[in-house]
Amino acid sequence: MPAERPPRSTVFRGGLVVTQDAARRVRRADVRVEGGRITDVGEAGTLRAEETVDAQRRLLVPGFINTHTHVANAPLRGIADDRDLAGFLETMFAVDARATDETIEAGAAQGIAEMLLSGTTSFLDLYYGEDAVARAVERLGIRGFLGWAVLDAQFTTQRGVPLDNARAFLGRWKGRPRVTPLVAPQGVYVCSEDTWLGARDAARAAGTFCHFHLSETRKEVHELEAKVGDRPVNWLERIGFLGDGMVGAHGVWLTRREVETLARRRVGIAHCPSSNLKLATGGIAPVVELREAGVPVGLGTDSSASNNSLSMLREMHVAGLLQKHHRWDATALPAQTLLDLATVEGARLIGRADDLGSIEPGKQADLVLFRLDHPTLAPARPEAVVSHLAYSASEEAVDSVYVAGEPVVRARELVREPWERLRAAAERAADHLWAPR
Ligand SMILES: [Zn+2]
Repeated sequence: MPAERPPRSTVFRGGLVVTQDAARRVRRADVRVEGGRITDVGEAGTLRAEETVDAQRRLLVPGFINTHTHVANAPLRGIADDRDLAGFLETMFAVDARATDETIEAGAAQGIAEMLLSGTTSFLDLYYGEDAVARAVERLGIRGFLGWAVLDAQFTTQRGVPLDNARAFLGRWKGRPRVTPLVAPQGVYVCSEDTWLGARDAARAAGTFCHFHLSETRKEVHELEAKVGDRPVNWLERIGFLGDGMVGAHGVWLTRREVETLARRRVGIAHCPSSNLKLATGGIAPVVELREAGVPVGLGTDSSASNNSLSMLREMHVAGLLQKHHRWDATALPAQTLLDLATVEGARLIGRADDLGSIEPGKQADLVLFRLDHPTLAPARPEAVVSHLAYSASEEAVDSVYVAGEPVVRARELVREPWERLRAAAERAADHLWAPR
């Protein structure tokens, strides 16, 4: 078992630091880390520690927070492209029925590798079989906020009662440094009132929160309206589900009144623009209105089968372009805001604003070191690097990644396990899932 925390203090010497502090300063600085946390950000060349990392040719950025995915689907990349959501889901459900603990863990490890290598240090997941995902999280050293999927008994492929499974999962993974267990109602199309309220109660009792799909498609909104006479947010409010700290994914088809309700209930939204565009969701999430109303918004890649990338760099790029184009407004979601969504705002969305999302004393040392000499980061001027991160930086520019001060990627190689081994296991999982014998 690898050590959870490096024993020594470290100074990252003289890098260009995108602090994401309150003033959004970008500065040449030393960053000192001890016990997994940042203890100091000071003038370059002034801080001391037992270990020194030369960061002069590096851009230091807070680790990205991917606020919605289904990481175990990584081996399903390309299996259901270019179909509408109904056709996509049909394939996904058929393949899901073939998943085993082994394919889930191997798939999660593949997805986590891709996330770490593109600078993501925390992710929110929605799936069943999350024990296997949690094992992959602990093996590779990323932070996983893992939501056990709950839905009505007649819709599930889970063995046993989903809500009981979720409660047991919460109990098993409580108090781990890298795993935070959540409860994840799948969506209004498969969850009854009892399931929603049971999920809320289970999360509350365990001191955690709910993560769920919300108003992704027009179909789901119209079908619920036909059934109960209300749109999803209005109905969830009516049954008393909505509450502090919850995270809905997508939030595409929302009315102004629903946006106000989310703000009042302090429910946030994980915006997943690539997945929405690829599945031709049609609508565009009202990200600007959500933010103006005070709703916390983060960015999510959704799964490898619907995006098909797990890179937050790409997600920032797409999110920015989509809102600008759609609103006829080039000032919508500027580069700084896009980086905020991927870092500090993502941290706020998952209730970890005090702990994650910026390079400041007291925060977890979740750091990404980009190569400042990479072509996609040139010119490497302090006033331009935030723009580069949002619009041009390649995943290949990520040199090393630290979680809680521990190196998990170094010189573009995973530290804890070799990619070649993870790849072989993921290919075996894909063989089983794509063409079962
Ligand atoms: Zn999803």
